Amino acid sequence: MEVVRTRAALRHARAGLPAPVGAVLTMGALHDGHLSLLTSAGAECASVVVSVFVNPTQFAPTEDFGRYPRDEAGDLGVLEAAGVDVAFVPPVEEIYSPGFATAVDVGQIAEPLEGAARPGHFRGVATVVAILFELIEPERAYFGQKDAQQALVVRRLVDDLAMPIEIVVCPTIREADGLAFSSRNRNLSPAERAAAPVVFRTLEEARRLVEAGARDAEAVRGRMREILAGERLVKPEYVSVADAHTLQELERLHPGEVLLSLAARIGSTRLIDNIPLTVA
Ligand code: AMP
Repeated sequence: MEVVRTRAALRHARAGLPAPVGAVLTMGALHDGHLSLLTSAGAECASVVVSVFVNPTQFAPTEDFGRYPRDEAGDLGVLEAAGVDVAFVPPVEEIYSPGFATAVDVGQIAEPLEGAARPGHFRGVATVVAILFELIEPERAYFGQKDAQQALVVRRLVDDLAMPIEIVVCPTIREADGLAFSSRNRNLSPAERAAAPVVFRTLEEARRLVEAGARDAEAVRGRMREILAGERLVKPEYVSVADAHTLQELERLHPGEVLLSLAARIGSTRLIDNIPLTVA
């Protein structure tokens, strides 16, 4: 595996890679969720390039950029063992040159849910993804369903800017008790970790209700709030029953694709999760 830290070194390494090149963009502190993206990319592409970059522009000043988990040595070991061809691990100034002023705004799809809870977040995401796609020039890029709105934002970005990149969305990987793997799980205390599975339990109960015939979306959201309220350590930010394509909140569930999602704080750690669902 080649480890590159500059744009120039990346371009040089990229030029020698057989196509198709698959990209996996990460913020590091790698876990089994990331590994599943690497495995899919490795199975479907001739070469795999992975970026490890904690992107400052997608964090608000009040957020956890400073305490976001970082483990470069561990990450490089994981990537090497996974058979990755190139690891791109740039310092911030290699992505954002002095005077950097451009931002990518993908419009409505970035507004609800995470966009409303984290103003400016998806502008930072879309901007860094555009830069990384420009530098890596992948034929395919792999994203996790765990960050469902992010995947929709990235699809909008590549469609609108005519980037010739196929976006592949891979299923959410979970611990045995249902908690979705997340780098932020490393910040949970033992008591918080014990409370965290309520996030997935809530989504599962919402799915069960819909599958049993519930069609009043607000009633489903109400039940989700109730379940979360049962965990003292958990502070819900939002619960959502939305159209899976537009992410607009539903009143009634009609046949089609629905996204059940929520965000909650457990202590100082913020967790998000979702379940996509087809209503028959
Ligand atoms: P991150 O390092 O958190 O920015 O995530 C990098 C990529 O891994 C994104 O496409 C995420 O959606 C994906 N990812 C993160 N957690 C999981 C998970 N538990 N299962 C599947 N994909 C994930």
